[in-house]
Amino acid sequence: MKYRMLGKTGLMVSEIGFGGEWLQRHPEEESIQLVQYAHTQGINIIDCWMPDPKSRDIIGKGIAGCRDQWFVQGHIGSTWQNGQYVRTRDMRFVRPAFEDLLARIGGGYIDLGMIHYIDSQDDWDAAMGTDYIRYVHELRDKGIIRHIGISTHNPRIARMAVETGFIEMILFSVNPAFDTRPATEDMDSLFAGWEGKRPGGVDPERAALYRLCEEKDVGITVMKGFFGGRLLDAETSPFGVAFTPPQLIHYSLTRPAVASVLCGYDTMEQLTAALAYETASDEEKDFAPLLASTSLQARIGQCTYCGHCQPCPMNIDIAMVNKFYDLAAQQEHIPDSVRSHYEALRPTASACVGCRSCESRCPFGVGIHERMKKAAALFGV
Ligand code: SF4
Ligand code: SF4
Repeated sequence: MKYRMLGKTGLMVSEIGFGGEWLQRHPEEESIQLVQYAHTQGINIIDCWMPDPKSRDIIGKGIAGCRDQWFVQGHIGSTWQNGQYVRTRDMRFVRPAFEDLLARIGGGYIDLGMIHYIDSQDDWDAAMGTDYIRYVHELRDKGIIRHIGISTHNPRIARMAVETGFIEMILFSVNPAFDTRPATEDMDSLFAGWEGKRPGGVDPERAALYRLCEEKDVGITVMKGFFGGRLLDAETSPFGVAFTPPQLIHYSLTRPAVASVLCGYDTMEQLTAALAYETASDEEKDFAPLLASTSLQARIGQCTYCGHCQPCPMNIDIAMVNKFYDLAAQQEHIPDSVRSHYEALRPTASACVGCRSCESRCPFGVGIHERMKKAAALFGV
């Protein structure tokens, strides 16, 4: 296992990390063993955004005995109310949920105290300058959290986080689908402007974010590196081709400032497939030929979350609806996190009035009105 410094936190984290989201799908003992096995393979960073007691207990028990050898990303504002995940800045729920996390993880501290999931300006405003952010600072001042981080999918929010100066790292969604923008339809030129290992072709706003993070020494840990598994299957990949885990891990690890890719595992096979990155040849890791060989045709009708279809007269965030719809539609059961994030959108897809003004602006021929109907039906709102 190789280790990288997570920006200004100074922590040396394993370049392959552990996203714990799916651990609760299995019997507790089985999942505990998976966490323990990951440790034997050199993985030392694990994300616990999950508020449910089972997930937290699995991680706490999985790292017990070597707590000081793990770095835990623990989220502040992810709460468990009436058996469901609720994201909130309401201190009546935030404080007990974080205290529960501390108790279940063990050791009396959390390495990376994450400002949980902020994707919009409204969310940002609801968190900053409030008791919520004062609580985050209080935890940091007392050493209960050792560093302050944030989780977001939105490069604009990530940029604002970097500019605060006190947010030391970001858990950010990185993969070729999220990064790719329709600035060019010629995929052969997607990587024009490579400098060393850093490919061009990324949306300028995202590329600027990665550079800013590197410049300000704000480390990035990666979520959704496999796009929820979608990029591993040609049928669901927006590029029309399947990538391998080493290719996708390599993609993320070649972005500036990225220190660790926290893949979500719930089976030994998935974990082994990610760990294969450590022994993969340069050829096996190389994602560029595959990406360059795809054609725009392969992506026609598939949303790349570029946002070019806005504005919507009903104020629907079309790219976000599509993103959550795609994440949910791949699963047998909609994950609580995806449902909750979708339901937090204001408005949701059910507000679509079918004007289709968005469709003429979509460079990828997405049938947006139909997808809004499908999303509304799938989520029930
Ligand atoms: S078709 Fe629906 S999503 Fe598209 S602009 Fe009209 S109301 Fe918005
Ligand atoms: S529907 Fe089209 S324009 Fe809108 S985010 Fe998706 S790909 Fe981009």
